[in-house]
Amino acid sequence: MAHDSRQQPQHFRVVVVGAGAAGLCMAARMAQEGIRDFLVLDKSDGVGGTWRDNTYPDSACDVPSHLYSFSFAPNPGWSRKWAKQPEILSYFESMVDRFSLTHHLRLNTEVSSLTWSEDRSSWSILTTSGDEIEAQVVVNGLGQLSVPNIPDIGGLSGFTGEMFHSARWNHDHDLRGERVAVIGIGASAIQFVPPVAEQAEQLTLFQRSANYVGPKADREFKDWELTAFARIPGVREAYRQWTYWRLEARFAVMRRGSAIGKYYQKKFRKELEVLVDEDLPLDALAPDYQPGCKRILLSNDWYPALKRPNVSVVTDPVDHVDANHIVTADGSRFEADTLILGTGFKSTDFLTPMVVTGRDGADLNKVWADGAVAYMSLAVTGFPNMFLLYGPNSNLGHNSILFMIEQQVGYVLAALEQLAERECDSLEVSESAMRRWDEEMVRRSADTVWATGCDSWYKTDSGRITNNWIGHTTEYRKRLNNPRWSDWNFSRARAPHRIEDGVPVA
Ligand code: NAP
Repeated sequence: MAHDSRQQPQHFRVVVVGAGAAGLCMAARMAQEGIRDFLVLDKSDGVGGTWRDNTYPDSACDVPSHLYSFSFAPNPGWSRKWAKQPEILSYFESMVDRFSLTHHLRLNTEVSSLTWSEDRSSWSILTTSGDEIEAQVVVNGLGQLSVPNIPDIGGLSGFTGEMFHSARWNHDHDLRGERVAVIGIGASAIQFVPPVAEQAEQLTLFQRSANYVGPKADREFKDWELTAFARIPGVREAYRQWTYWRLEARFAVMRRGSAIGKYYQKKFRKELEVLVDEDLPLDALAPDYQPGCKRILLSNDWYPALKRPNVSVVTDPVDHVDANHIVTADGSRFEADTLILGTGFKSTDFLTPMVVTGRDGADLNKVWADGAVAYMSLAVTGFPNMFLLYGPNSNLGHNSILFMIEQQVGYVLAALEQLAERECDSLEVSESAMRRWDEEMVRRSADTVWATGCDSWYKTDSGRITNNWIGHTTEYRKRLNNPRWSDWNFSRARAPHRIEDGVPVA
């Protein structure tokens, strides 16, 4: 039958949304496995995701470089133990050539909605520019930390000075000689505050909670080390393995009420006492929650920055913003030329702002109204042929997220193979498997330190821990490497369609 290809959306076996670490991993592994019929979409004009967005001064990773890279795409040339943002971005960018991904990429393409068609057993993907693409399988690689969190502070949008979020740094704006205010002190702020403190005339930090900040034994690799990584078989892998197991052991701190956590808390408080003075009381420095409840941070220049004469820490809560003043609950007013928001990301709003509509019109936002949950962190009942990478309950506080993403990509590849082997068009996780998983996450997360007394981006306002994996990464690997296909329903399309030249024929 003749067809008009201009009116038919282009069809792909797999469409990956997002060309950050997760999307690139999926694409590279598909290319390695000989899958050619796939497309990767990204809203920005380049790949790299969070590492493309977060260009703030001294942006770096707090996971060691050799572990912050994929096992199938090693980089013996990491210049230092903890790589900085430009080098990490280059690594991800280099994957495009390394795995011949260029013609699979469609950049400057933002997805607005995903809609499942039961009849066609495929997803209709609408972009913000009105284009439609069809895919048998959608893999979401949006991650947990892509949408900046702009806090709901009265008067904020009316701030009359310069204002930007840490993930949207304004590099054209010169901070030298300015009065700079920072709201939010987390993993990003502890990296950009020290260099900003060197430029600003006055830097005021509005800190809601203090963090555990440990030393970072960072340094450049020596020439002989780089030679060994590149030339001596086994050295790089052995170093990576050593790094992995060292970090994995730290999961002990993530258990509720762990002895090691209590010991660390005491030791940390004691060490901070030497820093205390009139302007920097202990409660401005020492967290009032167990270590690990929020992410444990690493920096060698955070505390020296706090001790600078031009830096002050305000622990009274921000009440509102009035023109160019930040006003705290006790009525104090702090004038600022520039306000930097280090307020993190909308971490619990998975897949937003996309509208995702599954089988029988199910709205994912409504399904997740009480907090996001996904079987094995990657699939949701009612949403066939759709996977998430770095989805609910797959973030870590102690090891490399790239390790988790690799396990998830392996699972998705196995699912694609199952579909082909069974000659089926769709697979959907069963309701009972989903329920079991949900109950397990709720039960086991109660035994973690994240459920103890602190707010964090790991959980929703109602306290459900939606972001973190609740065990060792070894357990996650084992479970994902041994899929239980009996937890899935496989089916053939009700109205089978043929694909000709990449275009479905009715
Ligand atoms: P974050 O750790 O979530 O920190 C956000 C900060 O903003 C917290 O201090 C929070 O206070 C504060 N905040 C949020 N809303 C506020 C409000 N309405 N009023 C006052 N303060 C408010 O965000 P982030 O620093 O951007 O880091 C997010 C995550 O990104 C990290 O945990 C990490 O996983 C990742 N990251 C990683 C690296 C790395 O080295 N690998 C570097 C940067 C970021 P409370 O703590 O009181 O809620």
